[in-house]
Amino acid sequence: MKTYYFDYNSTTPVMDDVQNVILDTMKKFYGNPSNLHKMGREAREILENSRKNVADLIGAGSNEIYFTASGTEANNLALKGLIPFYKKGKNHIITSISEHSSVFETAQFLKKEGIELTVLDVDSQGCIDPEELKNSIKSNTGLISIMTANNETGVIQDIAVISKIARSRGILFHTDAVQAAGKIPINVNDPQVDLLSLSAHKLYGPKGVGALYVRRGISVAPVQHGGGQEHNIRSGTENIPDIAGFGEACRISMQNYENDSKHIMHLKNLLYTGIGDKIKCFKLNGSIATTLPNTLNISFPGCESDTLILDLDSAGFYVSAGSACNSSRRTTSRVLKAMKLKPAEMYSSIRFSLGRDSKEKEVMLLVNTLSEIVGQFV
Ligand code: PLP
Repeated sequence: MKTYYFDYNSTTPVMDDVQNVILDTMKKFYGNPSNLHKMGREAREILENSRKNVADLIGAGSNEIYFTASGTEANNLALKGLIPFYKKGKNHIITSISEHSSVFETAQFLKKEGIELTVLDVDSQGCIDPEELKNSIKSNTGLISIMTANNETGVIQDIAVISKIARSRGILFHTDAVQAAGKIPINVNDPQVDLLSLSAHKLYGPKGVGALYVRRGISVAPVQHGGGQEHNIRSGTENIPDIAGFGEACRISMQNYENDSKHIMHLKNLLYTGIGDKIKCFKLNGSIATTLPNTLNISFPGCESDTLILDLDSAGFYVSAGSACNSSRRTTSRVLKAMKLKPAEMYSSIRFSLGRDSKEKEVMLLVNTLSEIVGQFV
């Protein structure tokens, strides 16, 4: 059976060119980059070239990029690495209800450790209210952590406005750009952010590699201690083959950006109009204009997400859901709940996420199959 992947926000396939770089590096350059000898120096060179490619993707300097083992780790390092700073009287963090769990749960952990925490709500479109952000700021606010784009809905926050508020009050600003990188342009200097998280497997690189951007002059304390790699911020021998793959994925992403975004945006519109033409009852979660070019989160009241996912799966189509409801379990998406979806909308929501390899024909097939499946229930 032919299969069709519409789950690029979960993870992306590793591009052929990226696979080649990973394999080549693994085979030929297995030296430890901390070693002084030639093999060590060769591995170091690969590490630094990759750092430059990652930095270029977000307009950063190479010496502001620290490799981690995931986007989750980068988010943990951003929030926990500032503990010494919080202790200097800046012990209040502001974040939002729609953050990925690697920010949301880390913030909750810090709260248990005595850090003050404000969690901003989002409106029905998934956006935070800048006025509410301004009103939440206190004299001891040290950090604002708001994601660039949401993984479930694709909703893009107004980073420029948030950055301006943070700067005007002298507060550090971290953004989780794991879903946004490669999909929309990002430049850490415009709008200015102080810390930013990335993950390779969301942009056609390997799983298990991420990076944290830290603006020069900002001090982040290590969360794990050891050999002092990554300028003492993230100890542990660097995963050179996968880091090389990450760098290559970033380089390709920059090169392909124009074509990718045009292609993917076209398919998103096709999918959305196709659903509109063929299915009577549905609700778009987040607006077309303010969501990532590749993401559509749609509820089909009357159908259950799990049933839709499994029926689509049987027909060869792979999609995801935020909330799920079936006889044995009920999981609620914190994000969709915060957007005030009715239960019937929440438990029937499906996330379609497109990518570089998605094709027009596949989108049309998806629309037809989806309308047949939904038609059985409503
Ligand atoms: N942040 C966002 C917005 C994500 O979507 C994800 C993964 O889905 C992460 C962080 C975590 O990244 P990783 O899978 O590399 O740990």
